[in-house]
Amino acid sequence: MLIKQLLVLTAAMLVLVACNQAQKSQSAQKASEEMKDGAAGIELPAGLNLEKIVKSEEEWKSALSENQFYVLRKAGTERAFTGEYWNNKEEGVYTCGGCQLPLFASNTKFKSGTGWPSFWEPIKTELVTEISDNSYGMRRVEVVCARCDGHLGHVFPDGPEPTGLRYCINSLSLDFVPQKEYQAKLDQ
Ligand SMILES: [Zn+2]
Repeated sequence: MLIKQLLVLTAAMLVLVACNQAQKSQSAQKASEEMKDGAAGIELPAGLNLEKIVKSEEEWKSALSENQFYVLRKAGTERAFTGEYWNNKEEGVYTCGGCQLPLFASNTKFKSGTGWPSFWEPIKTELVTEISDNSYGMRRVEVVCARCDGHLGHVFPDGPEPTGLRYCINSLSLDFVPQKEYQAKLDQ
């Protein structure tokens, strides 16, 4: 009886030790614990500034390409299967094409067959803003960058698990930073 209790106790302690170690190694990787969120588990730059970026139409025009301006600032949509990233399978982070805020990660990107980059979750929900959009006689939810209000795309409730959401995003609204490059910037 005593041996059995001892065994149970030992097993429980082993689990505790294992959990502790897992937590330790996780927090060592995190520059800022609370900045990490969601399944993407992407570290965000320390002291990331989410203060609104406001520019005039002229300023945006000179900062962006004509096509980027049309999508990001005029809520345009690129033609399906024409964008740079719908079929990108590289590991990395997708940032806002307007203000470089990290928005989505490759590990939440999935093959939707739509011809637009599709994700089931942003890196962190606070990084994007969702707005109900009734244009073109459709009830949709528009997704914009939380920092510069640049139009990204729409979110639909027909995505895969675990969220069941499909963030359908224009390639023109995004820039892609390969994982190594992203990590190198964080380590600077
Ligand atoms: Zn932005």
